[in-house]
This record gives sequence, structure tokens and C-alpha cells, in this order.
Amino acid sequence: MLQDNLKDIFREYEYKFTPQRKAVVSVLFKNSLPMTVHDIFLKTKEKYADIGLATVYRTLDVLQVASVLGQVKKRYAPAYYLKQRHGFTLTCYSCGQNSPEPPSLAQALEQAEKEMGFRLQNLKVVGLCQDCAHK
Ligand SMILES: [Zn+2]
Repeated sequence: MLQDNLKDIFREYEYKFTPQRKAVVSVLFKNSLPMTVHDIFLKTKEKYADIGLATVYRTLDVLQVASVLGQVKKRYAPAYYLKQRHGFTLTCYSCGQNSPEPPSLAQALEQAEKEMGFRLQNLKVVGLCQDCAHK
């Protein structure tokens, strides 16, 4: 799913989603903590010894412009992390409890994105949870 989106994103910026770029993305995916360019470069190098730092930078640039990637300032170098797409929550207005997103809704939003050509970043849905509805 995200693989397809990424391919489109790279195509949009006239880059091919090469195995090296894929490797950069998967390094980001496997690490939940923000990583510096150097961290990402070294990790990707484990798989593609011949990868250049320029490829890593260009990949990060594209992801950042496309809002897939976020950046946090660290003390010496900025660190990057993959933004969670569809980070939407269902919040009960009565008790404030957050419910996990139902997969069917995630799928519907994914479909809506395709139709609209609009990529959603996050969404908050407010309602009444099951417990509160029965009080
Ligand atoms: Zn509630």
C-alpha cells in the first residue's frame, strides 16, 4: 500500500524508486526513533555497500517535500523520521477515551485519497464510545 504510494511520490519528482531508495525508506521504517542522515546512510550501507550519501540525501529530500518525512532538530544534526500516515484517532467526547482506528475506516480513507488525489496526514474523529453510549 505505502510502497505504491511511495513509487508515485518518487515518480512525481521524476525519480525512480530504486532498490537503493527503497532500502533507505525501509531503514526509516524499521527504526521508530528519529535518525540522522549519517545513521540512515550507515544502516543502508549494510545492505547496499555502494550507496552514495547523495542518494540518501535526495531520497530524504523527496520524502520531506512530500510530507512523508518529518524532521526534528537534534543538538548536532537534524534527525529524520517517517511520519505516520492516517494517524487518526477516535476520541470519546464524554470520557475522553481514545479508540484504535478501525481498519475499514483506514481502507476507506486510503480509497478516498486515491480518488481525490489528496494525501491525508491525520484526522481526529470525536464521538461517543460504546460505554458512554449505554450510560
Ligand atoms: Zn466514552
